[in-house]
Amino acid sequence: MEIRGELIIGQHAFKARGGDVYAIAAASGERLKPAFGAATSDDVERACTLAEEAFDAYRQLPDEQRAQFLDAIAQAIVDLGAVLTERAHLETGLPLPRLEGERMRTVGQLKLFASLVRDGRWHGAVIDAAQPERTPQPRPDLRLRRIGLGPVAVFGASNFPLAFSVAGGDTASALAAGCPVVVKAHPSHLGTSELVARAIAKAALDTGMPEGVFSMVLGDGIAIGEALVRHPAIQAVGFTGSRQGGLALQRIAQSRREPIPVYAEMSSINPVVLLPAALGARGAAIARDFVDSLTLGAGQFCTNPGLVVAIEGPAFDAFCAAAVEALIAKPATTMLSPGIHGAYCRGVERLATRSGVAKLAAGKPASGAYEAVAALLRTDAESFLADESLEDEVFGPSSLVIACRDFDELHRVLRRLSGQLTATVQLDDDDHALARKLLPTLERKAGRVLFNGFPTGVEVSYAMVHGGPFPSTSDSRTTSVGASAIDRFLRPVCYQAVPDTLLPEALQADNPHGIWRLVDGQLVRDQAQ
Ligand code: NAP
Repeated sequence: MEIRGELIIGQHAFKARGGDVYAIAAASGERLKPAFGAATSDDVERACTLAEEAFDAYRQLPDEQRAQFLDAIAQAIVDLGAVLTERAHLETGLPLPRLEGERMRTVGQLKLFASLVRDGRWHGAVIDAAQPERTPQPRPDLRLRRIGLGPVAVFGASNFPLAFSVAGGDTASALAAGCPVVVKAHPSHLGTSELVARAIAKAALDTGMPEGVFSMVLGDGIAIGEALVRHPAIQAVGFTGSRQGGLALQRIAQSRREPIPVYAEMSSINPVVLLPAALGARGAAIARDFVDSLTLGAGQFCTNPGLVVAIEGPAFDAFCAAAVEALIAKPATTMLSPGIHGAYCRGVERLATRSGVAKLAAGKPASGAYEAVAALLRTDAESFLADESLEDEVFGPSSLVIACRDFDELHRVLRRLSGQLTATVQLDDDDHALARKLLPTLERKAGRVLFNGFPTGVEVSYAMVHGGPFPSTSDSRTTSVGASAIDRFLRPVCYQAVPDTLLPEALQADNPHGIWRLVDGQLVRDQAQ
């Protein structure tokens, strides 16, 4: 499939007239061909209007047909073959094997949502049968199911050009919920985005979806994204990126005549707590695994371990020495874009000059213009507690190690932290009593609490939570990875005393698709009265 620099609006692919924009080669910073036509406000209007027109037809399709659409997108992404990963490699600098893995994750994610749609539990069907004899008041027949919110705007992420981008988790979960999607392509992988958008458009055509179920726009600067969030047809936003960007979109969404939810995943430093017994018994091994996690993918993961907290002493010093030894051997790696590289260098510089912070080690020097040199910094709990800016995310392979005088101080540091996607505890059996004291704090701080592992590597499954309190996300009640991500784009509707033939199939008495329903408080797949 050829990259032509085009927008995809419904089934129409064309070069837009908002001026030329170029994708950039991550390694060299050079412009890549072809030029892409940036969208105009008319293009945004057309994409959103088509999405609104498609909404009722799309959301009322049989579950099986919507599931087939999701499966067809997965297959179309596989069918793109090497052209997809080669272009993504050029645009993002991510290694080909990682991108191949990410493609399979994207495909797996789409299939997970297809199976979720087929299984029917997403309807959340509930039936409270009428009680005409009840006194003093009879109870009417009450039935609940969930429907899609409406067209969703998705902002592709820079750090997952496939799994969190055009056909990523936000798009897959919104389409599964019955919501048409308009994607704003991330400027750092425009060609990759076009290829995937074409694959989705083909899947939509092959499976007979209404036109407008999917569109992709791209822009020159922030105006197109702003116009998308302002458009009255858009009913929710999915975003992964900077805190500044997520908050700006949230402000726009809240200032609309009809405010809408913005599900933004923004910044997290993912604390790793080293408890004393584990630190004493296997500090050096933990240090090596930590440095591997820190430098994976040039540290460009939202779950990157940017903070380590432990009690000072010889075991802590040994941990730091082993971490330094591992880190100085790590080669510099190309970052996703010159902009992200610049932000990383400034972030490390800023951190290193804060009061009470010392740089412990740097990785091997860069040989390319946009390569990140890994960095390890150290501070003490007192300095950390006195300077809120030490909590700011430095996106890339940099981490700050905090030495605490004792367990109480360590706990104080954790209590002071703002919201996180993850919190990790390294522990051995003798640490269980301390871990039990920390757990209530960690539950309040993070969407995922993990033991004896590292936070990078997010499983796409039913139990996964990739979310957390602000600023890790704008809404701690949800997740952007895993089956529950569909909940963001659904809302409940109650049907009171509606005749059976007028009810949606999920709520009809004979339960034609045999889905799970809560009938008078019991979870059953039977027919109802
Ligand atoms: P970004 O600058 O927030 O951009 C993400 C997307 O949002 C882009 O499509 C961007 O469009 C758009 N956007 C940003 N601000 C906007 C605004 N005010 N109005 C409308 N649209 C807006 O994020 P990024 O380019 O991916 O990376 C920059 C930084 O984000 C990184 O250095 C890192 O700190 C952070 N980041 C965090 C995570 C995480 O998961 N925690 C992941 C990726 C990045 P344009 O670029 O076209 O303006």
